[in-house]
Amino acid sequence: MTEPQDEFAKKLNDSKIKYVNNLPAKISEITLIWNQLNKDEWRNEVLGKMQSLVHNLSGSGGTFGFPNLSAHARNLELALGELKQSDTLPNPEQKRLIFELLAKLQEVELETIRSTPAMPTFMSKADLIYILDFDNQSSLGLSRQLMYYGCSVKIITDVALLESSLHTAIPLLILLDDTFAEQKVGKHTVVQALRKKWMINCPIIYISKRDDFEARMAAIKATTNAYFTKPVDVPLLIERMHILTNAGLVEPFRVLIVEDDADLANYYALVLERGGMKVFVENKPELALSRIFELNPELVVLDLYMPKYNGIDLVKVIRQHQALYTLPLVLLTSEQDVNLQFLAREVGVDDILQKPITEMHLFDSVLNRVQRSRYMNITMTKDSLTGLFVHKKINEYLEVQLNICIRYNRVLSYAILDVDNFKVVNDTYGHLAGDNVLVALANMLKTSVRVTDFVGRYGGEEFVLIFTETAENEAFETLERLRKEFALINHYSSDIAFNVTFSAGLSSFPNYRDIDTLMAAADKALYISKEQGRNRVTIAK
Ligand code: GH3
Ligand code: MG
Ligand code: MG
Ligand code: MG
Repeated sequence: MTEPQDEFAKKLNDSKIKYVNNLPAKISEITLIWNQLNKDEWRNEVLGKMQSLVHNLSGSGGTFGFPNLSAHARNLELALGELKQSDTLPNPEQKRLIFELLAKLQEVELETIRSTPAMPTFMSKADLIYILDFDNQSSLGLSRQLMYYGCSVKIITDVALLESSLHTAIPLLILLDDTFAEQKVGKHTVVQALRKKWMINCPIIYISKRDDFEARMAAIKATTNAYFTKPVDVPLLIERMHILTNAGLVEPFRVLIVEDDADLANYYALVLERGGMKVFVENKPELALSRIFELNPELVVLDLYMPKYNGIDLVKVIRQHQALYTLPLVLLTSEQDVNLQFLAREVGVDDILQKPITEMHLFDSVLNRVQRSRYMNITMTKDSLTGLFVHKKINEYLEVQLNICIRYNRVLSYAILDVDNFKVVNDTYGHLAGDNVLVALANMLKTSVRVTDFVGRYGGEEFVLIFTETAENEAFETLERLRKEFALINHYSSDIAFNVTFSAGLSSFPNYRDIDTLMAAADKALYISKEQGRNRVTIAK
């Protein structure tokens, strides 16, 4: 039986295979240019083209895990560089050296092709969670709660089922009960088997009835990623999941890669996509600026050497724009020149990464930069408790959307939600438990509406939903579904479970045509929901 591996490994392998498939074409193009040079008139710019192809090969060979290929390409690149520097035509000795280096490169090409076997393919689901627990009752309760957050859950009750499940799908996250963790898989513990035998590298969270130091220490020794006591506080678990997986339930980081070498760009994209980032690729530097405005990336990775414009010039152009002044820019280069690196920093490059770069370095550098930058943006536009947009942002967005509706004759629905008897919740279960309720509601709203919809926290326990291109009756259906689902979520204060409801008021364009009347109508409808007994949705008259 083949070992399971995640989607990333499969894609990476695909890209490796693609790279190796393209290798003969690349090397024969290089050889062709050399032959032409020797046949026709000797021209330095043609030599330059050859050198740049060899340079790319040297960079990408290392990146794809073929150091030998990279080293031989580098030797050839250096020899070509020397030829280019001298004013005189190459002598026969110099030419022979190039022919030899080309022959070596062709040898390595064959080696590389032979050493790249095809690998099997596996499925991986972005929102799949495994619960490993003998206690079916508690697993069922937990899985139901997780499903409200848009996760799909598989409950696994023995090791054999675990192994067969891993062969069909790799989860985003594993929740491991401590008594299940005591099972042996051959001579391994369950965690060791997951990591070493089945090569599963997703986060593992311990769930346990115990809350003593020994139990927590055991979890740390087993190298798990987090610890939760039962009954599991699901909203907190979801928060933790966001941080651990950086995927699925949070908005992915948006990264643009500007790199003329399509294979390399594709490889970088795969590495970053594995970590849940949304990656865009642009191979033409002259289109970079318009792509930045169009895609609004949170970070741009730039290649230093590209045809027509180099990375430094591109950085200068980007930094000319006020709106892009703080956009993180990461430069990739195989250049060791310290002066050039200083120059890059001077014009506004945030980070310089050396090619060839390992997957881990690339991913970590981009992640660190983009996380901090997102954090800074968030503190200005988002509410710190729930991560939802703040009052000011909601109004801005609604204004823009209403204008679009007027201009293009579209519909839009607007709803205001208010938690019922929230004062009582705080008074009974404590302010902290109250906060968790707000986080749970915010998470549920975020994960249950379409990406084109907008969720904000208007203040206190009031939330706003803007449904773009959505008619009132359709928005009503959605709100009703959310209302019923939210009422079913168990919230916890210590060991006590409780439920909370909300009321809502709904208004829409074109019934109400400007921001003030639209909002006032929804407010009035909310008031009616409260008056009629709460836990209901009212449409504005
Ligand atoms: P109603 O059903 O009529 O809306 O009753 P209510 O108790 O929810 O309404 P009220 O406006 O009287 O009380 C709202 C409460 O929400 C009072 C306030 O302390 C609490 N609250 C506002 N913001 C937060 C917050 O960030 N965290 C917590 N825990 N409580 C908050
Ligand atoms: Mg390049
Ligand atoms: Mg209120
Ligand atoms: Mg309230």
